[in-house]
Parts: sequence; structure tokens; C-alpha cells
Amino acid sequence: MTTENAKFAAQNLFDVDGWVCVVTGGGTGIGLMIAQAFANNGAKVYITSRRQDVLEKTTKHWGSPLIHPRGKLIPAVCDVTSKDSIRRLVDEIERNESQVDLLVNNAGISKATSDVEKGEQSVNALAEELFNEDPNHWDDIYRTNVIGPFFVSAAFLPLLHAASKKSHHTGSIINISSISGITRNTQHHINYNVSKAATIHLTTLLAQEFRRKAVQVRVNSIAPGIFPSEMTAGGSDEYNKSQLPHGEEFGKKKGIPADRPGREEDVAQAALMLACNQYAYGQTLAIDGGYLLVN
Ligand code: NDP
Repeated sequence: MTTENAKFAAQNLFDVDGWVCVVTGGGTGIGLMIAQAFANNGAKVYITSRRQDVLEKTTKHWGSPLIHPRGKLIPAVCDVTSKDSIRRLVDEIERNESQVDLLVNNAGISKATSDVEKGEQSVNALAEELFNEDPNHWDDIYRTNVIGPFFVSAAFLPLLHAASKKSHHTGSIINISSISGITRNTQHHINYNVSKAATIHLTTLLAQEFRRKAVQVRVNSIAPGIFPSEMTAGGSDEYNKSQLPHGEEFGKKKGIPADRPGREEDVAQAALMLACNQYAYGQTLAIDGGYLLVN
């Protein structure tokens, strides 16, 4: 073993002690678990949401049993669809921090409809159904899932770049996309799938853009499979009926290899890896229990 190898072997490979992180939509679900995982390893994590009450409940509930004495969850209200709101968030964080080590663009919405798959339909019925869609749904989803991460990333760029100057690691961005952006076979509504495909492309394009401009910030993405959460109504019967019309069990569509729905910690572990691995650039990692293998 070389000296370099020995040094490496002795390291904690997921050392985020002292990091400053920002997780949008970190008050619930996947975002909260990611925030918790980093705080449990010693990071100070700003969790954002549009709802102050959710953040208060979350930090009260999760704040005390943190495993690491230096870990912290700090609530901050922010609507990622508003540039003013994003600017206020960055200003607030900049007053306290000289760098941000990690930004997780996790905030996302889906406006699932209960008539995603109706079987065979006449051309006219389908045309009418599609044309009758509310364009505001498309706007809302795109503004939250794609345009939001774009502007939040832009606003945090100087603080993320500062991390690369002051630490042994680069600042990094993780965009939470979805397998819905990779496979067409997810039963989600088209507008959501399109937005998540765009999130994946945004990841690659931002990574290339930063490389071209010599900005030391890595950008990667995680594409979760199916997870019970607020957005998916906790895998409720109602959700199953609307999203899994063939009566499959939640998370087990066509029997995925993992044979269970995802757990939020599955995504949190992947986030720790992508944040710490200094060799991951512009990638999308599917954490889906093997869903893409069989769908
Ligand atoms: P949740 O609904 O629990 O989390 C979404 C979070 O985003 C909420 O905390 C919500 O808080 C926040 N949010 C929504 N809109 C905005 C906004 N405009 N500004 C700021 N925050 C906002 O669902 P999940 O944990 O499931 O979703 C997290 C991410 O994972 C999403 O991007 C989702 O698309 C993705 N995903 C989820 C999958 C699943 O099966 N659950 C599968 C694949 C991807 P508030 O309303 O208070 O603002």
C-alpha cells in the first residue's frame, strides 16, 4: 500500500463534518431525509419550504435526536418559483456563511390526474382530453421542477464556488430528478415526466457550462424510483388507484428487483456519495430498486 493509499484507507469517505448545505423542499419527504443524513454527519443544513409551519414542526421534531453534536437543521422559507424569494434566501445565508458546500435542488411538485391511463380511447376523446389540460399545471410544474433549480443554482454559484477555493472538495449541486424523466413507463402525467427529463438535461448542461467557464462546482442528479411521500400521497390506496391502474402494489410495479418501495434513506445515501465523490461529474444516478431494469 502506498502512503497515499494508506491515507485514503484511513479517511471517512463520507466526511461532511462542518459542511454548509442547502436542501430546497427539505421540510418533508426525500429532502428532509437528505438534510437529516448530512446533519447526522456534522453538517449545518438549511432546509427550505414555502410553509413556515412545516419547517417549524420539522425542526422541532427532528432537531433534537441528531446523532452528531455539530449537526444542525436550520429552517428558511423560500419559494423556488420566485427570484425575489431565492435572492432573500441567498442573502440570509450569505450573512452567516462564507461558503456553501452542497445545494440539493429537491423541491418538486406533481399534479397527477386520476385519468392517466384509460386504455383505448377514440382519437377525438384523446385530443379533447389533452387539449383540455390546464396550461397552468404545465407552468406550475415547469416553474418548480426546472426553472426553480436553474435560478437557485445560479444564485448560489458564488458561494458554491467559494467552497472549492477554501476546502479540499468542490462545491456541488445535486438535482433530484426522477426515473419518470428516463422511462416513459411510469404512469405519471406527461407534464411531470417532461419536467423531470428536463431536470436531467439541466444537470448535464450546467455541468458543461461550469466546466467551460472554469467554475469549480460539480453538478449531478439522483433519479429516485417510487417513494411513498406527501407528493405521492404516502402510497395511499387513492394514489395506487390513480397511478398504478393495473392493481399493482405501490413500488412493486411489474415486480421490481428490490421487491419494496423506496425508502427516503436510499436517496439520502446516494446524496452523500455524490456530494463526497470528487470524481462524479454531470451524472444521473437512478435509485429505483431496479425499476428501470424491468420497465
Ligand atoms: P414532498 O411533497 O414530500 O416534497 C416536496 C417538497 O417540495 C415539499 O417539502 C414542498 O414544501 C417543496 N416545494 C414544493 N414546491 C415548492 C416551491 N415552489 N418552493 C419551495 N419548495 C417547494 O415529495 P417528495 O419527497 O416525494 O419529493 C421530493 C423530490 O423528489 C421532488 O422533486 C420529486 O419530484 C422527487 N421524486 C419523488 C418521487 C417519489 O416517488 N416520491 C420519485 C422521484 C422523484 P412546501 O409545499 O412547503 O413548499
